[in-house]
Amino acid sequence: MFEIVERTIVVSIDTSKCPDCVTKACEAACAKYARGIIKIDTNGCASTGDLSKQEVLRLGTECLACEFACKHDGNQAITINIPITGLDEYNRKRGQ
Ligand code: SF4
Repeated sequence: MFEIVERTIVVSIDTSKCPDCVTKACEAACAKYARGIIKIDTNGCASTGDLSKQEVLRLGTECLACEFACKHDGNQAITINIPITGLDEYNRKRGQ
């Protein structure tokens, strides 16, 4: 599992699904809707190329386009976790 840590989200990519992916849709979506931090590496897997963790934090827009593209046109390898502080307590108070 490869993780891209942005300011408030974590993009988890099951890269075992990438080599067989024909579209590599995540890379195009990231380039089109964000700042192109997702690059396909020499193994055919999604990565952040040579970017440092600090560069990823600076460039990441948290747009979620990679997850959508992978889900619909790729091999369903991307899951984005968006923690919301206080959500569990909020749900508890409402009996949910
Ligand atoms: S679209 Fe999904 S399965 Fe395809 S290369 Fe990107 S992350 Fe991997």
